[in-house]
Amino acid sequence: MSINKRKIIVQKYGGTSVGTVERIREVARRIQGRKNKVDEIVVVVSAMGKETDRLVSLARELGTASLREQDVLLSSGEQVSVALLSMALLERGVKARSFLSFQLPIVTDERHSAAIIKQINVKNILDSLHEGEIAVVAGFQGITLSGNITTLGRGGSDTTAVALAAALNADFCEIYTDVDGVYTCDPQVYGAARKLRTISYEGMMELAGLGAKVLHNRCVELARKYNVKILVRSSFNNSEGTWVCEEEEEMEGALISGVTYSRGEAKISVLGVPDKPGIASLIFIPLADMGINVDMIIQNIGRNKAADVTFTVPEEELAKALQVVNKVATELGAEGVDYDQNIAKISIVGGGMRSNPGVASKMFQALAREGINIMMISTSEIKISCVIDARYTELAVRILHDAFELGGNSV
Ligand code: ASP
Ligand code: MG
Repeated sequence: MSINKRKIIVQKYGGTSVGTVERIREVARRIQGRKNKVDEIVVVVSAMGKETDRLVSLARELGTASLREQDVLLSSGEQVSVALLSMALLERGVKARSFLSFQLPIVTDERHSAAIIKQINVKNILDSLHEGEIAVVAGFQGITLSGNITTLGRGGSDTTAVALAAALNADFCEIYTDVDGVYTCDPQVYGAARKLRTISYEGMMELAGLGAKVLHNRCVELARKYNVKILVRSSFNNSEGTWVCEEEEEMEGALISGVTYSRGEAKISVLGVPDKPGIASLIFIPLADMGINVDMIIQNIGRNKAADVTFTVPEEELAKALQVVNKVATELGAEGVDYDQNIAKISIVGGGMRSNPGVASKMFQALAREGINIMMISTSEIKISCVIDARYTELAVRILHDAFELGGNSV
């Protein structure tokens, strides 16, 4: 171990932060300012603005038959932004060099459009840093051992950044995005929302899984595995942002970190199914075979030993799911199939509920006081979710935020 460990940070700038040449210049200015405080900076960038969306729609026009070719196409967005950002740094007199993934390489498996990073060789980055340069690395892309270009899935530049931070043993990874941190709830829904100073990896993973689109889910998983601290912040202001870190380092020690909601699900009920062994598998295996993700499931035993099975699926897969379920329901001799798209899932997330009984009942009471009916409930160690009528979404967020006293002065 060297005595004088040099401080390395990895910074990642998302599409909005590099959306125009002017913004790219602003990012270069920010990097130059940061360079005075740390020894080495490695920067990961996404494609400019909505470039990846534009490329996806070009591919759609041709039917997107080949995921291999789609990856060749989509990875081009990041090639443009690393070159422009390096130019903007050079323009300011800051030494910089761009790297595409094959130039390191960042080796992935063969899964086009959803590739997993297997290995990163950081030698060329270290050489570049040694020359006093800023190494500017293309996010989102990888290369297979057989030389094919891959991409890591939409939003994958976050994952590139955290993987690089792990491989470089960096001090931390700063993710610059268009929000300035992680909030106790959506500030658009409730003005009392407060920016968190810290959130645990687990809490952040739950939030990402529940639809909070701040970070790519795999990036948080990776950060937890390699213990990479992430600072989520905005490239449009200088506020401190939110640290994503180990639970012990979570400063607030609050019972609940946040309230979140998603409206992207629909509920299906299979009514009056004969209550005998194996029925659930007859319903859920065909859904899994179709690649439909089932989230919450409940079963009530009713009269005459018949059961109602209710579950949620992503709303965009409702039609496909109903086809499968109607067929199975007929085969099983069920009484019928019912569905509802106007539902919302409201969740509270927080490590504090592990050691504090009564969190669930507090949530249910708060909803009941406002006459909000709970249709389904699911829990994990650090999360409780309730399905409710979609028209009460905002109200539910506000009352739960108040019930758990999440507001206060922003930090
Ligand atoms: N440019 C890619 C996308 O839009 C990767 C990223 O932004 O993280 O999905
Ligand atoms: Mg992104």
